[in-house]
Amino acid sequence: MDFRIGIVGAGGRMGLASIRAVAAHPETALAAAIDRPGADSIGKDAGSLAGLEPLGVVIGDDLDALLGQVDAILDFTAPAASVDLAQRAAKRGLVHIIGTTGCTPEDDARIAEAAGRGARIVKSGNFSLGVNLLAALVQLAATTLDIDFDIEILEMHHRHKVDAPSGTALLLGEAAAEGRGVALADTAVTVRDGHTGARTPGTIGFASLRGGGIVGEHSVLFSSMAETVTLSHSARDRGLFADGALKAALWARTRPAGLYSMADVLGLSP
Ligand code: NAP
Repeated sequence: MDFRIGIVGAGGRMGLASIRAVAAHPETALAAAIDRPGADSIGKDAGSLAGLEPLGVVIGDDLDALLGQVDAILDFTAPAASVDLAQRAAKRGLVHIIGTTGCTPEDDARIAEAAGRGARIVKSGNFSLGVNLLAALVQLAATTLDIDFDIEILEMHHRHKVDAPSGTALLLGEAAAEGRGVALADTAVTVRDGHTGARTPGTIGFASLRGGGIVGEHSVLFSSMAETVTLSHSARDRGLFADGALKAALWARTRPAGLYSMADVLGLSP
């Protein structure tokens, strides 16, 4: 039997990409799709809305009905929605794939707690193979290059993005901090404005640009006084994230309850 997938935030940019990914995969079936009550997408066929042939799945707004029909949920929505869904996934022992970014430490703690109570959660700020490989390379570079190399992370995204730095930039920052043996929370500099003074050695800096339709650009620079090493990734199509999220869902279906990362799915975890 096909693995039954439910998509929340179905009318959003990643929701539509997820519909296309599920429809194209030979082992998965779109079992339900929902959006926020009152959204324009409610009542429309999910396939038609995503630019495909009709799939016979009408986008609804009844979360409990959706959860009763699926084995896994693909969730690219908003932090409050993802935290709530994690609690519901725990009650039903569902696979919950969380791509939502901008979660606070409190949100992350509640998601981890839901994973401890029965949900099989894969949460990642970026579901692409390339970015997760990049994170492993960033960790290696941060371990190899000493504190004389300042670490700066530059990210660029489309004009609709609501959080900064991006989830991917933070994921790369975590990798750099891990390589340096420090906590990102103690070393991150996410805003510079006005008379900031000279750069503090050992900090990890972030810069965020927003414009047009940029899907996702990330660069990590390691700069000494004499040289700069730049590691970068460019996403051209958000279908890449949806394909990765689906891969994570299929991987998680045979795992015990718990909280996993995309690095776990790809076998990149130490
Ligand atoms: P988007 O186009 O705004 O889509 C978000 C969708 O979720 C919208 O349809 C929104 O409805 C819906 N939504 C929000 N709260 C909801 C709720 N409580 N119940 C049901 N639906 C709800 O945004 P996007 O570009 O697709 O990005 C979504 C998230 O995924 C962001 O956090 C983004 O950073 C992240 N993202 C992650 C990856 C990754 O690989 N991890 C890749 C790309 C994007 P309304 O419009 O009515 O609010």
